[in-house]
Amino acid sequence: MSPVRIYVAPPIHSRIQYSHVTNHTSLSHPEFPEPATLPVSHIVQYNLGVPGVVVAKTCISSSLIPNPQPLIPTRKTSMSTHTLSTQEIIHQLADLGVTPGGVLLVHTAFSRVAPIQDGPLGLIAALETHLGPEGTLVMPTMSYDDEHVFDPTTTPCRAEMGVVADTFWRMPQVHRSDNAHAFAARGPHAAAITATFPPDVPHGIDTPVGRAYALDGQVLLLGVGHGANTTLHLAENLAGVRYRSPARLRILKDGQPVWFDYAEVNHCCKNFRKMDDWLDARGLQRRGTLGHAPARLIPSRTIVEIAMEHLKQDETVFLHPPGVDEECDKAWASLPA
Ligand SMILES: [Zn+2]
Repeated sequence: MSPVRIYVAPPIHSRIQYSHVTNHTSLSHPEFPEPATLPVSHIVQYNLGVPGVVVAKTCISSSLIPNPQPLIPTRKTSMSTHTLSTQEIIHQLADLGVTPGGVLLVHTAFSRVAPIQDGPLGLIAALETHLGPEGTLVMPTMSYDDEHVFDPTTTPCRAEMGVVADTFWRMPQVHRSDNAHAFAARGPHAAAITATFPPDVPHGIDTPVGRAYALDGQVLLLGVGHGANTTLHLAENLAGVRYRSPARLRILKDGQPVWFDYAEVNHCCKNFRKMDDWLDARGLQRRGTLGHAPARLIPSRTIVEIAMEHLKQDETVFLHPPGVDEECDKAWASLPA
């Protein structure tokens, strides 16, 4: 049996986890003290729409597992059992203000969106139906694997990008960038948005987020907050912040894999949540519900404009004070004294 990629959609407040499996898979879950191992047969498959991908749901709330004891979460979940139809999602997209024919950059935590008709594929279908043939759907599909050379046709995306993004890049006619900071896109602007860009400036103006900004795209934060909003790194780049974090990737040089060391504008990103106050105070962020998830919709240019206003006053506005976390400390250490 060849390895199968299993996606596990845990309860609504949890992150999607996945792992390669053969006959057994290890499930890690924030509410389990240790990763649990269970046979693949104990996973309920609910979506098989993409070759090589099995979207699966653990039987946490199902009667199908004979002995579900090790998988019962300790916290109660509030997940609704009403499965929303694709048509209902399309109505929600219209209510939220997503522009048909536009460029839409989506960051998703599908576990908060579910349950919806046809799972991740149903969400993608609703997004593209609403956008129409003139619209372009864009998602981040970065690799978690810096040890191996990135291959846009085989390298999975990081778990935190979510099952929707990792389903999307595998679909027909979807373009994907050729380095580990890849985005995926489908639609008239897909090739331009995902075209080659320098790996050491993953979120500058000449990158997928910069191109979505130039095309006056909208950013949809679906079940996630501004901590996941990569367009804020574009604002940092455009504002000329001086902090950097060391990073490295495997790239091909003369056909051989070599390490590529660089310094990237990065930190823990938790203080990106400051954007909520700044945008909400001026009514610049549409809020609503999509699927069962809280959703925020903001024009890319508004994100950049408001973030730059604050970054111009204080370039460290998004960093935690020194001593709070390692990632922000690295950014502080890189600043000139
Ligand atoms: Zn921090």
